[in-house]
Amino acid sequence: MGANSSWMELTNLKSIDEVIGKTDQELFGIEEARILRENDMKVMQTGKTLTSEEKVLLPNGETRTYIAAKMPLRNSEDKIIGVVGNSLDITRMKQIEKELHESKIKAEVASQAKSDFLATMSHELRTPLNGILGMIQIILHTLDSSTELHENLTTIENTGKNLLALVNDILDFSKLEADKIELTKEPFSLSKLLYEIDFSLQNLVAGRPIELITRSERNVPNITIADKRRIRQIIINLASNAIKFTLNGTVEIVISSKPLSSKETNIEITIEDTGIGIPHNLIDKIFDRFTQVESNYNRRFEGTGLGLAITKKLVEKMNGIISVKSKLNEGSCFKVSLPLEISTRSDDHIQDLSSTNTQRIMYFNARILVVEDNPLNQKVVHSMLSTTGCTVDIAETGEKAMELFKLNEYNLIFMDLSLPDMDGLKVTRKILEFRNIKRIAPIIALTAHVFEEDRKNCFKAGMNDVLTKPILRDELYHCLNTWLNESTMLNSADA
Ligand code: ADP
Repeated sequence: MGANSSWMELTNLKSIDEVIGKTDQELFGIEEARILRENDMKVMQTGKTLTSEEKVLLPNGETRTYIAAKMPLRNSEDKIIGVVGNSLDITRMKQIEKELHESKIKAEVASQAKSDFLATMSHELRTPLNGILGMIQIILHTLDSSTELHENLTTIENTGKNLLALVNDILDFSKLEADKIELTKEPFSLSKLLYEIDFSLQNLVAGRPIELITRSERNVPNITIADKRRIRQIIINLASNAIKFTLNGTVEIVISSKPLSSKETNIEITIEDTGIGIPHNLIDKIFDRFTQVESNYNRRFEGTGLGLAITKKLVEKMNGIISVKSKLNEGSCFKVSLPLEISTRSDDHIQDLSSTNTQRIMYFNARILVVEDNPLNQKVVHSMLSTTGCTVDIAETGEKAMELFKLNEYNLIFMDLSLPDMDGLKVTRKILEFRNIKRIAPIIALTAHVFEEDRKNCFKAGMNDVLTKPILRDELYHCLNTWLNESTMLNSADA
């Protein structure tokens, strides 16, 4: 019978003549009209307002989506005589929703490509660095430390280590930005972690007028459950900054705890130094990436400007808070507070004790298979293992590895992941097929891939542990201590 201008606009019809004398069916199509009528009847029968999404095919062939609210129309005797409806055209909104969804998928694909690229880059950069650093370590061992060559090589070694740290930082930061870091959960003792950190920081304070004090307060729970490696990274980042930016005095690391419930506690880590301090106007900026107080030109301290950005992202990923107070020329104090789960299981304690073997170098009567195709890496690992008394066989292909494995009894197998004929995961699976026939030694992956997914794949294939390249002497020895059977251990006097 008629239509107002809003309705005309809403349905995109040009003239009132297109409407007059037509039924819903003629205007909108049979199926659409059926639904419209069904909804109208429902409102009239129940007397209740109905809100629904309606799709309408317009006479011009266009489909539109409305959100429609229909309520009963009553006469003066309160009898329902019809329906009053309000419709809002949400066609564009739906389109935007669809476009958003599509661009989200596109962005996800792009982000995946970025992280794949980073994984490959990390591999490509870390492999040659591994070779360089390993060879330098070997040559340095053969040189008299008073020679100029030794001094020059040490400079190269330090520069290489800095380069490696930079590559690692960039990778870490990119992964955190792409939300590609997965936190793991394991039971461990914070006090013991602090003890280990103290030990590894000693070389930074050695020979400098700085006292490093570490203290874990009594109220810190015995065993907490969290990502130990990442908590270590947070503390080491802050503590090495504190040591770096302190010319003399003290650097103090204190861990304390405020229980939140029987299962959760708030851990507070305080790192306080008597160093150069941070100017008031820059204190909010230091957590930004690549921000350093001293400009490139007159910088006295090495660094990338990524450490605090990574630390802040890690703390926030763990639902924690990081803050800083500082006074120029007096010192700085960084505080991290983290909500952590407390372990109540008694066997968690035992698990943690066994995972932290002493770092003392041991000697072994063990036979080790190293599956590695890169001649430089072969040399590095061979030399490091031989100094512990082990007999080392090298296989440069998967095929050769299988041959040697079938022929000999090994106590430990190191497995590179990318071999010329098949990948290390496949070799591992092939070895494990012999599970019922012979005793199989623990298999340790040697990889330059540092992503959590790569680690997971190694464990999934049946490997027992993962060592990342460049292989550091201490980590390799720690690995031997952990995985070689006690019966193969010789004490130093036997060796
Ligand atoms: P960098 O690699 O330069 O140490 P960070 O992100 O770790 O990068 O730190 C950013 C900047 O914050 C440093 O360059 C330094 O200027 C300042 N800073 C961080 N920690 C301290 C500290 N304990 N004392 C003084 N300045 C600090």
